[in-house]
Amino acid sequence: MATMQKVFAGYTARQNVLETTTKTNPFANGIAWVEGQLVPLAEARIPLMDQGFQHSDLTYDVPAVWDGRFFRLDDHLIRLEASCTKLRLKIPLPREQVKQTLLDMVAKSGIRDAFVELIVTRGLKGVRGTRPEDIVNSLYMFVQPFVWVMEPEMQLEGGSAVIARTVRRVPPGAIDPTIKNLQWGDLVRGMFEAADRGANYPFLTDGDAHITEGSGFNIVLVKDGVLYTPDRGVLQGVTRKSVINVAEALGLEARVEFVPVELAYTCDEIFMCTTAGGIMPITTLDGKSVNEGRLGPITKKIWDGYWDMHYNPEYSFEIDYNEAN
Ligand code: PLP
Repeated sequence: MATMQKVFAGYTARQNVLETTTKTNPFANGIAWVEGQLVPLAEARIPLMDQGFQHSDLTYDVPAVWDGRFFRLDDHLIRLEASCTKLRLKIPLPREQVKQTLLDMVAKSGIRDAFVELIVTRGLKGVRGTRPEDIVNSLYMFVQPFVWVMEPEMQLEGGSAVIARTVRRVPPGAIDPTIKNLQWGDLVRGMFEAADRGANYPFLTDGDAHITEGSGFNIVLVKDGVLYTPDRGVLQGVTRKSVINVAEALGLEARVEFVPVELAYTCDEIFMCTTAGGIMPITTLDGKSVNEGRLGPITKKIWDGYWDMHYNPEYSFEIDYNEAN
């Protein structure tokens, strides 16, 4: 069974091996696919007139590779396709080709713990002044070493969060948060507020006394053995889905419903979850200890179950690093 120390020790060992390859492999620090060309990530460029850059007219998704295995790749690709449909975007390549390209990129990079990003933009022509049938969408993909929204050292102790007071989450009627997007104005303001208040992470509300989500993560509260996570005003996180899978396997109830802010102040445990970091315990909220400042027992069980899942063929598959074309 996964324990934090064991999981992080394995990761550190693999990182050390990767570092020895950076002198010989130009892709070991990251690889990007731009207009059909593979380039080292640091050299990747996008055209200035891409509407993704000009108007944030885009959607994206982030699957991950852990210990040489792709985790829930289809879940991410299905969500990306759904986001594209909602935005009237079309991925310019068929799904199988996207998958094959990603596998090839990961294999070429040799990165065994990877943050993988796919971005679909409107392309070089904007919606204003162009006939819809003349718009050609663009795809960008890149693979880089794993990113931690909460560093392993902090996961051992738990981080600190605030309920943001100076900004609320954008309402779903304005920007649909189920479409993974890069309109981060509210989340960036929240991050600055958290820093101003001496905390690591902002939790944003819906402006009506309910919790939504934070800067790149979903939020889960635990009270009397039941897990609560907001159903509205949030991205339907793939990690959150895994949390629910683990909870169900443990016989715990997980409720996806309106979550009042008040529950955050009275609950037993809090954690955040995202692909880039997994299960991230919060032990201080608005300057006050949660669970007396210690990692809670349910958070720990979900944490273990989540990392165990990465080796379960139902959710992950092994990458053949010798298959690089
Ligand atoms: N909410 C937001 C706003 C995010 O940006 C993310 C991930 O980046 C998440 C939630 C978590 O989503 P997932 O678990 O699919 O990575």
